[in-house]
Amino acid sequence: MGDFSAEQIYRHATYSTVKAWRERKVRYRLEGSRCQDCGSLYFPHRAVCPGCDGRNLEPCELKPYGTVHEVYRHLNPAQVVMGLQELHPRVVALVQLDEGPCVLTDLVEVEPDEVRVGLRVRAEMRKLRRESNSNWMYGYKFVPAAGEGA
Ligand SMILES: [Zn+2]
Repeated sequence: MGDFSAEQIYRHATYSTVKAWRERKVRYRLEGSRCQDCGSLYFPHRAVCPGCDGRNLEPCELKPYGTVHEVYRHLNPAQVVMGLQELHPRVVALVQLDEGPCVLTDLVEVEPDEVRVGLRVRAEMRKLRRESNSNWMYGYKFVPAAGEGA
């Protein structure tokens, strides 16, 4: 007992990091739908294709890169009550993914004045809230990604 070498500890730490990275990669996927009849892509999932009214849609993985198409600034009611709206306006944007579909999303990790049409962004999975069973709910938000993807 108690004979832990530095090498064993190092290996354990390395393994954990790799495992976390793999799980992270999985969480980064954006799952959309591809219409098997006309080839249109949608995000998020759709059951019926608005392009051809087909119901032959299959899940597909979309690249998490896109460009800001329109910007909206929202004030969170709780922030207004607390007088914090000047500090943290919520920035919501319509982002066009590189593969075509548009998604309405929160933009985070960016100064609100720096958000403009044409800004390159990338989806990241974030903890949204804790459920009653203490599991975290994850969802995507977009962050600036200058020079990435394409
Ligand atoms: Zn279609």
